Amino acid sequence: MPLPIAVLHGNFPQGTLDQPCLLDHKDLRVLLHEFGHCLQHVLTRSPHHTLSGISELGRDSAEFAGQVFERWCSSREFLLWLSDHYQTGQRLTEAQVDTALTSINAYDSWPTGQLLMSALFDFELHLAQGDGRTVQQVFDAVQREVPHLNIPSWCRFANSFDYLVTGYEASVYAYKWSGVLASEAFKRFQQEWVFNASTGKEFRETVLAPGGSQSLLQSIEAFLKQPLPLDFFPAAVNRYQTADR
Ligand SMILES: [Zn+2]
Repeated sequence: MPLPIAVLHGNFPQGTLDQPCLLDHKDLRVLLHEFGHCLQHVLTRSPHHTLSGISELGRDSAEFAGQVFERWCSSREFLLWLSDHYQTGQRLTEAQVDTALTSINAYDSWPTGQLLMSALFDFELHLAQGDGRTVQQVFDAVQREVPHLNIPSWCRFANSFDYLVTGYEASVYAYKWSGVLASEAFKRFQQEWVFNASTGKEFRETVLAPGGSQSLLQSIEAFLKQPLPLDFFPAAVNRYQTADR
């Protein structure tokens, strides 16, 4: 059976003879996110092309694994382990890592707000097709609902919103939804230690190996060994969940 291949390419600063490539926290997050996608792609055991590989998964499933791996970047243990200075070998202290994580978390409201606004804009553009408004007018209407971002019209947000033409039509929201599910799944790693090999193996067996042969929610519940609480879901998903059980 042919084995899947994944290629990870990132837009990171290139190392030189004097200085290796040093990633800032954002780059590290991107690297782990994409690494999660790669593992998801190569560790599937589904023999069916249409049920395996990242491109065959729904957007929420496809983004879920990437977002789970991002969670390691918010782990104090992981950052302490990773933080050897490239020249002195000295590690960051726990206090330094905690300060950095506090700062990172404090500024999370901006990317969260921007993601929610992007998802709303994505929905509205698809709903508004043919109603006579320009793309900018739709964006202006959406931004009135998320006013604190205050993106000026000359920024031309819509012109750089490339998700509209890269296959994410009306599914940008999946980033947020899969992120919520990723946080829930990562709790098990937090409880059992982020370097726990047997927890990682179970994640591989229950989430990565089945690929698209079972639903994302089934995979997560198999990994967590318990059903997700019904009040965890929005009302529409709740109805689906109740009917499914
Ligand atoms: Zn991704």
